Amino acid sequence: MNISDHIIDDARYIASPNHDSRPEKTSISLIIIHAISMPVGEYVTENIVKLFTNELNPDDHPDFKAVSDLKVSSHLLITRSGDVLQFVPFHKRAWHAGISVFEEQENCNDFSIGIELEGCDDDIFEEIQYEALNSILNLLKKEYLIPNKNIVGHQHVAPERKTDPGPNFDWSKINAGHLDR
Ligand SMILES: [Zn+2]
Repeated sequence: MNISDHIIDDARYIASPNHDSRPEKTSISLIIIHAISMPVGEYVTENIVKLFTNELNPDDHPDFKAVSDLKVSSHLLITRSGDVLQFVPFHKRAWHAGISVFEEQENCNDFSIGIELEGCDDDIFEEIQYEALNSILNLLKKEYLIPNKNIVGHQHVAPERKTDPGPNFDWSKINAGHLDR
């Protein structure tokens, strides 16, 4: 695995229009881990791709009505089978964290990379997802000089709104994370 021009070589690249530039002189200093499933508890990766590319049909499932108009994205998605999809180059700002704060710095999207794991609060994650995630974290830590303490969950930067990656995400299985904080 390698990064060229802020894109992982081995990732399947699907451009999301839901991104913009990071604020000037803002370096990447945080990695936020998320979980997503569409609909919740079902693993239909294509629905997540549609959400991030504004192609989700609100009539396909009752749950989609509330989210189909949202403009959201993440830099990466790790599917249940460990495949890695990239939607936004790392030097651009993806729209994944929403209202959030890390060490008194607000708007975490400005300075973070977002990684979605296909999953949900009520399910364990696949071993192959942890393997892919660890490879990616090692790569990103080296490329952008991110310390272990700056690898956190969405639930840690938006505790009143978000629960992902949730109670079944095993922080001891990754080479970093909030346990070091
Ligand atoms: Zn999230």
